[in-house]
Amino acid sequence: MRIDARTVALVTGGGSGLGAATARRLHADGAAVVLLDLPSSPGEQLATELGDQAKFVPADVRDEGQVSAAIAAAQEFGDLRVVVNCAGVGTPGRIIGKRGVLGLEDYRTVIEINLIGTFNVLRLAAEAMVGNELVDGDRGVIVMTASVAAFDGQIGQAAYASSKGGIVGLTLTSARDLADKGIRVMTIAPGTFETPMMAGLPGEVKQILEKQVPHPSRLGAPEEYAALVAHIVDNPMLNGEVIRLDGALRMPP
Ligand code: NAD
Repeated sequence: MRIDARTVALVTGGGSGLGAATARRLHADGAAVVLLDLPSSPGEQLATELGDQAKFVPADVRDEGQVSAAIAAAQEFGDLRVVVNCAGVGTPGRIIGKRGVLGLEDYRTVIEINLIGTFNVLRLAAEAMVGNELVDGDRGVIVMTASVAAFDGQIGQAAYASSKGGIVGLTLTSARDLADKGIRVMTIAPGTFETPMMAGLPGEVKQILEKQVPHPSRLGAPEEYAALVAHIVDNPMLNGEVIRLDGALRMPP
């Protein structure tokens, strides 16, 4: 599906990092964009900066009513065609360990935001897309964000890896569930990207992370994530797949 002035997109986590870069890219390509993010995020500033055809809707991805309101706000621009799920949190902590212990509540919170929140957006977006006319063979495209943590068994990432692994399963299933409705579902599994989520890390940790990426030996730029989203939307054969975007990174323990 070509991204142009007829495209209406919703980006969760659209106020920061990968979501903000995606909102900027889709808007630059001509789309009207709704940024869904927490009220505390910089989403409002970004929407103001983008100007026309951009709106910020403060919402929590776990909340059905708030997500529905964001979808309704997007539909004021026209048929909602593109949804990108970037909202997410990370919580390190070994299941049992000296540097931190992963408690049940922390585990539950990460699953609720990253996995259940993503499912909540997916299902409400799919319901909204079903009534769309076909454009270039698609009624809609939903892109989700997993992580290489879903695959690499990194120590201290039990909650995060579980939530992102769930997104992988959700992608494989929902793409086939929604195929007869003309809705595609794809997931990007990023390696390490230079976003506020990584900003708190000390410089020496950042250097180690850069060296872990075989080529190019650096963190990914959010614009590189956004470029892959744009390619997925544009390419009708990309469906029900998880694409690692990681410079050949395989997370060490
Ligand atoms: P970020 O912290 O810059 O952005 C995440 C956004 O999600 C924030 O704006 C935050 O307010 C929002 N958010 C958090 N909880 C929310 C909720 N309950 N409802 C609505 N919005 C909520 O982080 P980022 O690096 O841009 O991460 C974006 C996505 O990419 C996340 O799902 C993250 O797990 C994933 N990811 C990031 C990296 C990386 O290296 N940065 C690697 C792999 C996966």
